[in-house]
Amino acid sequence: MTQETLALHAGYDKGEFGAMSVPIYQNTAYDFGTAKKAADRFSLADLGPIYTRLNNPTTSIFENRVAAVEGGESAVATATGQAAIFCAVANLAQVGENIIIAQKIYGGATTLLAHTIKRFGIEAKIFDSDNADDLEDLIDDKTKAIFFESLSNPQIAVPDIQKITRIANKYNIITICDNTVATPALFKPFDHDVDVIVHSASKYINGNGSTLGGVVVARHGLNKKIIDNARYPHFNEPDESYHGLVYSSVDLPLFTLRITFSLIRDMGFTISPNSSWILLQGLETLHIRMKQHSTNALIIAKYLQSHPKVKSVSYPGLDNNQYNSRVKKYFKDSQASGLLSFEVEDLESAKSVIDNTKLFAVVVNIGDSKSIITHPASTTHMQVSPDELAKSGITPELIRLSVGLEDTDDLIADLAQAIG
Ligand SMILES: *Cc1c(COP(=O)(O)O)cnc(C)c1O
Repeated sequence: MTQETLALHAGYDKGEFGAMSVPIYQNTAYDFGTAKKAADRFSLADLGPIYTRLNNPTTSIFENRVAAVEGGESAVATATGQAAIFCAVANLAQVGENIIIAQKIYGGATTLLAHTIKRFGIEAKIFDSDNADDLEDLIDDKTKAIFFESLSNPQIAVPDIQKITRIANKYNIITICDNTVATPALFKPFDHDVDVIVHSASKYINGNGSTLGGVVVARHGLNKKIIDNARYPHFNEPDESYHGLVYSSVDLPLFTLRITFSLIRDMGFTISPNSSWILLQGLETLHIRMKQHSTNALIIAKYLQSHPKVKSVSYPGLDNNQYNSRVKKYFKDSQASGLLSFEVEDLESAKSVIDNTKLFAVVVNIGDSKSIITHPASTTHMQVSPDELAKSGITPELIRLSVGLEDTDDLIADLAQAIG
């Protein structure tokens, strides 16, 4: 079945009543009935639900559906995208070890991976994701993961993905790809040897800014890379916190199993069943929305390119963009999602454009069906020094758009009157 069909049907058989929409199991706990059944659930002999912090039927359907759409083996949902990134990384690295992260990634991922987890003793080394020439030299015996975004937010950059996974595989290191902006509708990381995908489902998977959520997806056959790999001894040695369970002795997808039964069990960043249900609704239309976001963004990008008061436009779907050849190589029908940025004359003009748009909301979010405009230099990147800003290509006159699903004639009319 194609992913378009799986997005509507995977993981749900309509249950006892033939309910067309997945039921919301809005409950905390489950009646085991017998002591034996309870013991079997805890020993993983029976994989039925134990407690909603660990598992919930509505959430399981969402997880299985995302896994199916991404072409993965298993998935685990989390309360937010940030929690998904933390789970994926903390499942591999611990104190005294390191991870290697792309330079061009989401600001929240940078603060989490380069700063917050440093306090837990995990060091992040940063590689130049535009060409990955420095990646191999950064690897050492304590390197546990390589993290990058398939289409980065907010830089709108596409890394050399096959080069990254080739280097990672040479050293038997697990790669984690944040596929939030591209989504499985446009890009399939597992087709390019990525091991683990993470999502902020709050963005395009949700599609209308109505809930937070995250998900970690593991590829088929990832167990083989984990079992007996000297880099990941914690999958192969008894887990004291789980009465001596050796994960690699269990015939289940180990990466997501350990996130659920160790990290989420203890940290508690569980998604609510209600949010899982909302995200299931979003997933149903993801493919047609991504097509339209990409079409609209290309139309807006071309319009801005032709505007005399616009100095530059950055959209990887444009032929003259530095990442366009990678979009053509990796992305379905060369569609490049809904994010673009452009520069006007100076800071004052940028502020004036933002103040004068009416249809575009001034919001720090992306992936909503409604169009969004942001000024990175005064918001998301306010704490960054002018020097670092220049290096990351964020000038005071830069404006970022998350192009929504409105009619492009209306969006262009709004931009035209705001730019003046
Ligand atoms: C928003 C975002 C996140 C964080 O997700 P939340 O759901 O807001 O926690 C992570 N990665 C990318 C690329 C994002 O855009």
